[in-house]
Amino acid sequence: MKTKSLRHSFVKYIPETLEDGVLYISIDYCTAAHKCVCGCGNKVITPITPTDWELTFNGEAITLSPSIGNWSFDCQSHYWVKNSEIQWAGKWSRYEIDEGRRNDQIKKQIHFSKVDNLADVSAENEKNITRQGHSQGFWRKLFQRFGF
Ligand SMILES: [Zn+2]
Repeated sequence: MKTKSLRHSFVKYIPETLEDGVLYISIDYCTAAHKCVCGCGNKVITPITPTDWELTFNGEAITLSPSIGNWSFDCQSHYWVKNSEIQWAGKWSRYEIDEGRRNDQIKKQIHFSKVDNLADVSAENEKNITRQGHSQGFWRKLFQRFGF
């Protein structure tokens, strides 16, 4: 049976067995969990971090962003939790799933390179290498054009 809305429950630890239609939120562990709303019974864990999910609580209802795509489950459910209501989203194609994963990785790389200076330095080096590569190509083309 499909779940139409989720009831939130603030907990210290996410329980081992989840109840249908309940969104468990552990602020201590920055994690939320619920059972896939399609009724398949799979446990969906959504870490609350700047690069994973953002959780909004307005005192009555919960909103999770971005959408939840259960690509690793057979059901491949894709939905939004907005004001504790389930809004079904379209199924993604293989391409969109891969693109989404890639965007996640880029988002994470950007986030962690801000944190990690070493990553910044190597990104800067990479830029320099490409810049050099470009300018070499430019000169070669120029030489070719003028027959040097
Ligand atoms: Zn499911």
